[in-house]
Amino acid sequence: MKNKLKIVLLLSLIHLKILLQSNQAFCTSPTIESSRLELTPSEGLHSNTPNSIITPIEININNKAQISDDKIEKLKSTVTKAVSFFREATGETTNPINIHIGTGTDKLNTGYALNINSIVFVEDNDIINMGLDSVDVINHEVFHALLCGKKPDLCQTLSTIQAKERALHEAFADFFAYQLNQDSCMGENYYRNKSCVRSYSTDLIFSLIDGPNVKDIIGNIIVSNLVKSENNGIHLKEVWQFILAFGMSLDQLSHLSPSLSQELETTQSYAFTDDAQTNTGCDKLRRCRFANGVTYQMIFQANDTLLKDHPDLQIIWVSGNDNSKPPQGFSITPHENNQFTFNITIQDGAKIEKAVAGFVSGGKVIGYRTFHFSRKLKP
Ligand SMILES: [Zn+2]
Repeated sequence: MKNKLKIVLLLSLIHLKILLQSNQAFCTSPTIESSRLELTPSEGLHSNTPNSIITPIEININNKAQISDDKIEKLKSTVTKAVSFFREATGETTNPINIHIGTGTDKLNTGYALNINSIVFVEDNDIINMGLDSVDVINHEVFHALLCGKKPDLCQTLSTIQAKERALHEAFADFFAYQLNQDSCMGENYYRNKSCVRSYSTDLIFSLIDGPNVKDIIGNIIVSNLVKSENNGIHLKEVWQFILAFGMSLDQLSHLSPSLSQELETTQSYAFTDDAQTNTGCDKLRRCRFANGVTYQMIFQANDTLLKDHPDLQIIWVSGNDNSKPPQGFSITPHENNQFTFNITIQDGAKIEKAVAGFVSGGKVIGYRTFHFSRKLKP
């Protein structure tokens, strides 16, 4: 059973890692240096689409970018399908889709750039063919472009609104991509070393994670719920009606999915604290330095609502560099009488180590906390 849990933890943490590295949306202030080589209207929408009207797709290719005609045709076909799907589902007209390929600035991410109202594809060593091979990612960015084209007021405030509110933009863009290709993997053929950008579903609970990634987790939790509700009548049409009525308000989510709203409300009250700062001398970023020959004690504490809903909650420690192993160079053993108390000692030869405390319930990782362990230089 322990091994099974470890495997589950491993898989979930891998998903987690993918998720944490995957915030591609809304590139900020890119400088486009591309020369316009091509100006192409789409071939038109499905001939059987009742409200078929040509939505122009304008593609600008930087002359540095080496993109075959075949890739461009595939891109146009993918965008045309996505736009057509949007029109059919929402009954809306659509604005032209602007695309820039190969801006020549390697600092940019592939994604939708609000300030130039364009989907941008740029070179990145970790990304296959600038992202042009990933239909899910293209569809995700097309949704940003369509939404911001139709409802600019919802996008113009993006730089000032709370990070949590941005979660809804990401969630709905993912849900759009999911509706077009209904599998478990968001973003095949994007990263060279990962099979998906992220999974559409997650078991993580946003209140059991801290740090800058919370908004991404909330977005993922929302998609997770909508994907589950897929057969219960929530489709793009319902999402669009919600957007028209309530904008991007997390507080109004009960109008879209009562179960999602309930889930966010319930899990909001969960708390799992640790005393790492006081007992082991970690700083606020959870960088902890251990002296030789000293045993430190770290105590986690779950609040009542969390324990009531997850009575089997336990903590499994893994290395942040290799989730299949325990933290290297540090001995972490559970206290005899309390499953949330750990004794930590540093071992000979230990180096700086990322140690992750994974919170596991029902065989699933529902939260985690990352620490950076190292040796205390002076006694
Ligand atoms: Zn996005």
